[in-house]
Amino acid sequence: MTTRRKFIKKISTVGAALPIASQIQGKEVKKNKPIIICSRGEQWGEKVLRPGWDILSSGGKLLDAIEKSANVTELDPEDTSVGYGGLPNEHGIVQLDASIMYGPTHNCGSVASIEGIKTPCSVARLVMERTDHIHIVGPGAQKFAIAHGFKVENLLTEKARKIWLRWKENLSDSDDWFPPENNNYDEKRITGTINVLGVDSLGDVAGITTTSGLAYKIPGRVGDSPIIGAGLYLDNEVGAAGATGRGEEILRTCGSFYVVEQMRAGKSPQEACEALCKRIVDINGGTKNIDFNDKIVAVSKSGEVGCASIKERKGNPPKLAYWSEDGFNVYDGTYLIEE
Ligand code: ASP
Repeated sequence: MTTRRKFIKKISTVGAALPIASQIQGKEVKKNKPIIICSRGEQWGEKVLRPGWDILSSGGKLLDAIEKSANVTELDPEDTSVGYGGLPNEHGIVQLDASIMYGPTHNCGSVASIEGIKTPCSVARLVMERTDHIHIVGPGAQKFAIAHGFKVENLLTEKARKIWLRWKENLSDSDDWFPPENNNYDEKRITGTINVLGVDSLGDVAGITTTSGLAYKIPGRVGDSPIIGAGLYLDNEVGAAGATGRGEEILRTCGSFYVVEQMRAGKSPQEACEALCKRIVDINGGTKNIDFNDKIVAVSKSGEVGCASIKERKGNPPKLAYWSEDGFNVYDGTYLIEE
């Protein structure tokens, strides 16, 4: 009898042994130009992509490359939107979401609302590789991580706690929390995520999306990042896409799936990212109703990149960074609405 577990194992093995169609047909394997990209500009791009590019350019595994790159932001306490140091939910508790997907097997894994684990994308990878499930949430995800030797740690840094406290004290005039004297609070709700996507020299595609989600969210809220097809999607014959920004809009448009399918239908990664932004604006009844932002990045199997957002960010176009045989580069995307 073939159990589901055996079935999944079997398709994984077939995928791993025969990564691309040309091998299946016994033709010569074309050497592809490897590339690794992330949804950040100069400030983060280089340090995030360096460990991944080192692995990729020395013939290491694609999944190791994207995981090590995503871990850089997850472990950095200065980044308040991903992993350790991420902004907490409305109760002051950090809850993380992450997903991973691997082209040759078309398999994926994700965790949502996981607490106390600094590197949720590494847990998502174990869900993909060491279970026959795809999505594990909350306390179950933490227990799964503990079983694999992860330490439970306090993820709320002093920096994030102070930002959260300012938000809480300024939330309402009619509750019992008072801001300090000389209060000049005018902060916008902070968001952020990182997508890391890669293509190796065989032309295989993989991706990760990892985030602490919407700051001050209702406990248990799950965004787009850990949902396959929303915050992350890829197809080994086409390429990969990942989203950041208001997750609810990406969820209700199946954003990353939409972008990859647009690429499959012939659009370039840039055109496909722009098509999603237009789609989101359309379902909201036009630009006048947009009080949020979303950004999408994509890479094709052949290494072409694309990036678009609904709005510009602080007067700048949306950016992605990539590392390829041409070195480290930053790519300026397009946006629909000027702020
Ligand atoms: N997309 C993330 C979420 O909705 C947050 C973000 O990227 O800003 O959880």
